[in-house]
Amino acid sequence: AGTNEERELTDGFNLVIDALKLNGIETIYNVPGIPITDLGRMCQAAGLRVLSFRHEQNAGYAASIAGFLTKKPGICLTVSAPGFLNGLTALAHATTNCFPMILISGSSEREIVDLQQGDYEEMDQLAIAKPLCKAAYRVLHAADIGIGLARAIRAAVSGRPGGVYLDLPAKLFGQVMDAEEGKKSLVKVIDPAPAQIPAPDAVKRALDVLKGAKRPLIILGKGAAYAQADDAIRTLVEKSGIPFLPMSMAKGLLPDTHPQCAGAARSTVLKDSDVVLLLGARLNWLLSHGKGKAWGEPHSKKFIQVDIEPKEMDSNVEIAAPLVGDIGSCVEALLGGMGSWTKPSADWTGAVTKKRDENVAKMAPRLMNNNVPMDYHGALGVLRTIVKERPDAMLVNEGANALDLTRGIIDMYKPRKRIDVGTWGVMGIGMGYAIAAAVETGKPVLCIEGDSAFGFSGMEIETICRYQLPVCIVIFNNDGIYRGTDVNPAGNDPATTVFVKGARYDKMMEGFGGIGVNVTSPDELKRAVNEAMDSGKPTLINAVIDPAAGSESGRIGNLNPQSKLKKK
Ligand code: ADP
Ligand code: MG
Repeated sequence: AGTNEERELTDGFNLVIDALKLNGIETIYNVPGIPITDLGRMCQAAGLRVLSFRHEQNAGYAASIAGFLTKKPGICLTVSAPGFLNGLTALAHATTNCFPMILISGSSEREIVDLQQGDYEEMDQLAIAKPLCKAAYRVLHAADIGIGLARAIRAAVSGRPGGVYLDLPAKLFGQVMDAEEGKKSLVKVIDPAPAQIPAPDAVKRALDVLKGAKRPLIILGKGAAYAQADDAIRTLVEKSGIPFLPMSMAKGLLPDTHPQCAGAARSTVLKDSDVVLLLGARLNWLLSHGKGKAWGEPHSKKFIQVDIEPKEMDSNVEIAAPLVGDIGSCVEALLGGMGSWTKPSADWTGAVTKKRDENVAKMAPRLMNNNVPMDYHGALGVLRTIVKERPDAMLVNEGANALDLTRGIIDMYKPRKRIDVGTWGVMGIGMGYAIAAAVETGKPVLCIEGDSAFGFSGMEIETICRYQLPVCIVIFNNDGIYRGTDVNPAGNDPATTVFVKGARYDKMMEGFGGIGVNVTSPDELKRAVNEAMDSGKPTLINAVIDPAAGSESGRIGNLNPQSKLKKK
C-alpha cells in the first residue's frame, strides 16, 4: 500500500463493541449518560440488545442474574461516579452470590482525577470497586481494549464466578487506531471457564464418608443450579437414594414434588442426618453456619463439600471430605466411583418422608381458604397452582413474609426457575431480575413481591412497559414493612414501618400503559394472574392483604437486636 493511501481507522467505541460481539455477548443492561450515551446507541446500532433502565442498581441486578441464568457474564453499563456507585451495589451482590457479571463504567480524566482537581463526576472508581469485586481493570489505550475485556470475562466466569469492574475513561472512546491493527488486538476468550477436575483421592474420600453414613443428606445450593449439570445431579440423587434439601434458588433442580425431596422436612433432616453432602451450597448464615441447635448439636456431623473454591472448605466447621472442582466434573466423578451402591435404610428415608407428608398435610387446608381480607396462605395457595400449571415460567420473589412463605409454599419443577434475594437477603432485586429473566429466557415471568420490597425497584415498571416484557407483578400489599398495623407511640408521624394505607400500586402500571388490577380475594387473584400469564402483557396486580398478617422480619426475626433496657 502506498503511503498516501488513506488508512482505515477504528476507535475505542467500535473496539469495545467488536470485542463484546467477538465474545458472544448479546445483551447490555444500561443507563445512558456522559460518557457512555453514544456507546449505548452504537451498541444498539451494531445489533446488540441494549436495555435502558431508570436506575443503575436495577440494571446491575439484571446483569447479575443474567450471569446466573446463562453462565456468561451479565454486562451492566453505567456513567461515572454516582452511576458507577449505584451499579456497585449490584456488582458486590454478584460477587457475594457467585454470579458472573461485568460492570463497565465510564470515568473522568485520569490526570484530573488523580490530582483531585475537581473534574465532572470525579472519582477514583477503580480503587473504590476493588474491594467489592473479584477483579477490577482499567483500560487507557484503545489497543488494550481487547485484552481488557478478555481479562474481565475470564475473571468473571472462571473458578468461583463473581463480579468484575472494567473502567473505561471518557477519552478512551474517541481514541483512533488503524482498523487492521485494532482487529488484531481483539481477543476471543478460549475456554473461559475451564473444567476443574477433582483429584481422585478426594473423590474416593468423599465416597468413603458417604458410604459410612446411616442418615445421609444432600443439600443442593445455587452453585449446583448455576453449574447446569442437571442430568448428572439428578442421577446422583436418584442412584444414591439420599434425601435432598434444595436451597432457595436450587429449588426445581429436581422437582420439589420428587419422592426424595426433604424440603418440607428441613428441620428434621438438618438435625437428624449424620453425613451431609453439600453441593454448591455454603455453610453460611442461611444454613446456621453448620453448627448449633439447628444441626442437632452436641452430636457431631460429617460434611462432604463439593465446591469450586478451595477456600470455602472449613469456613465454618471442619469438612471431613473436601471435593474441589466444578460441580459437573465432581458429580460425574462421584457417579463413576459409586459402584454397586447400597441406598440408605428405610428407617431413615421413611422417617423423612413421614415428617414431610405430615407437614404438607398440615399446610394444605390453609392454602385453600378464600378469605377476605386475604392472608398470605390464601393468596399463595392459588399462585402455587398457577406455577404448577406453568412449570416453564420464571418466578421472581422478594420481601420478608412474601419471601419466606412463597419459598415454602410454591413448589418448583424445573431448574433455575426461581430467582430471589440470594445470599444477602437483599430487597430491590425484583424488577431488575424480572426484566433479565424475561429477556434471557423468553419465558413469562411471575414476580411475587412484598409492598416494601417492590418500592426499591418500582420505577422499572416503566422499563417493563417500554420493552413490552411478559412480566406479571403481584404485590402483596399489607400497607407496610412486615405489617401495616404499627403505630407511632410518641407523635403524629406514621410509624417507621408503615406506608400509605390502601395504596394502589396497580394505578402506577396503568400510567405507563400496562395493565393494573386490584384484587381482594384469592379467586380474583387467580383470574388476574392467569390472564396476565396467558396474554404476556405487562401487568401489575395489587393484592390487598390483611395489614395484620405477617410477622416481624419474616422467618429471620431472631436477627433483630433487642434493647435490654426498659422503655424510658
Ligand atoms: P446457596 O445460597 O444456594 O446455599 P451459595 O451461594 O451459598 O448457595 O453457594 C454456592 C456455592 O457454589 C459457592 O460456594 C460457589 O463457590 C459454588 N459454585 C458456583 N459455581 C460452581 C461450579 N460451577 N462448580 C462448583 N461450585 C460452584
Ligand atoms: Mg408489606
